[in-house]
Amino acid sequence: MPHNDLPGRPFVARRDADLFLEDVRLADLAATHGTPLFAYSKASMLDALAAYQRGFAGRNARIHYAMKANSSLAVLQVFARAGCGFDIVSIGELRRVVAAGGDPATVIFSGVGKTRAEMREALSAGIGCFNVESTAELEVLHEVASAMGLRAPVSIRVNPNVDPQTHPYISTGLKGNKFGVAHEETVDAYRRAAALSGLRVVGIDCHIGSQITQESPYLDAMDKVLDLVAAIEAAGVPLHHIDFGGGLGIDYRGDTPPAADALWAKLLAKLDARGYGDRQLMIEPGRSLVGNAGVCVTEVLYLKPGEQKNFCIVDAAMNDLPRPAMYEAFHAIEPLRAVADDAGAARDAAVFDVVGPICESGDWIGRDRALGGVRAGDLLAVLSAGAYCMSMASNYNTRGRAAEVLVDGGQSHLVRERETPEDTFRHERLLPGA
Ligand SMILES: *Cc1c(COP(=O)(O)O)cnc(C)c1O
Repeated sequence: MPHNDLPGRPFVARRDADLFLEDVRLADLAATHGTPLFAYSKASMLDALAAYQRGFAGRNARIHYAMKANSSLAVLQVFARAGCGFDIVSIGELRRVVAAGGDPATVIFSGVGKTRAEMREALSAGIGCFNVESTAELEVLHEVASAMGLRAPVSIRVNPNVDPQTHPYISTGLKGNKFGVAHEETVDAYRRAAALSGLRVVGIDCHIGSQITQESPYLDAMDKVLDLVAAIEAAGVPLHHIDFGGGLGIDYRGDTPPAADALWAKLLAKLDARGYGDRQLMIEPGRSLVGNAGVCVTEVLYLKPGEQKNFCIVDAAMNDLPRPAMYEAFHAIEPLRAVADDAGAARDAAVFDVVGPICESGDWIGRDRALGGVRAGDLLAVLSAGAYCMSMASNYNTRGRAAEVLVDGGQSHLVRERETPEDTFRHERLLPGA
């Protein structure tokens, strides 16, 4: 591995002036496949997964990749082959798991708004568990399963009411959230679930938010969940597994989340101390497995200097990289080819807002970025683009979604073709008549 000057992204590095992902020069990928282009490092994904696997060594544990972070089939293949299950939030995601060769029995189904049709299909496929998010959902799932002569495996997602200290749009375990069953109502909900013949209670689930960079919310949530486990079992409902959700953050901008193995050493110590260490454990990490495995390569189209702002207009936009527009999120942006140091004096000291071509002022990717002597035609890499980018991409402005490449050592595989404009309106119908 070359010298790494991009902390938190061990598989993105410069060799001389050029930016590489593993052993592949990103500029070569852009020349072959065009821009905007997402590239993902397989080694980076497996490295992130390995931290969890080390943390759980010798334990009865299963890692369910929360695939909404990046649901591209090739990414799912990597995790399925590495032994992961999947956390899904729609039946479309289950179909992706099956298309990628994953086993439905390893799937857990989360989400506040499962439809009856989704429940039916998931039951027929034999998924591992439904993470139920309300008492109303318990009743409907019971009806659907009973009508099929089945018993649905369920755990209830509890809302531990801890503050994950993250962006309000991605915190999910607080009282004002739409997610999960309130702490005070949990024991009653479990009593009800145990009484319904179409359900089979198998576990308890909690997921408190995303991009969590502190360990204390996890430790607090673990205490609250274990208090509930004790209360639920005292009420006569045994729980086979404890699912602790996902949410661990990544380094976007000098963030220092705990390492997965270090965090789990502490959480397991707590589980052991409270006598729950030999339960089946489950987790649902998404971002922390893929976020820093991905980059988005984009070409500078125009520089537009201004009195108040300088704009660097690139060919990627909010439809490709929605996180800045949605959460004012930060992505580091690196030129693919660094300006040589002896040219440093001549560098343009200007800072730029990096923006896309979409007709919205919210279409920005980075603000006030020093990009050295950037020029039209240069290529930039938007870092930490593996999670919640392509999976949230849209066709706004009739922009086809970007192509995707999976990098594996010195090899690269095109895993998603660039969408054409025709692809974006393929399912539309013209009105009849002249
Ligand atoms: C989104 C989600 C996850 C994964 O969250 P990350 O922050 O990507 O790790 C896990 N569980 C549930 C229920 C989710 O909705």
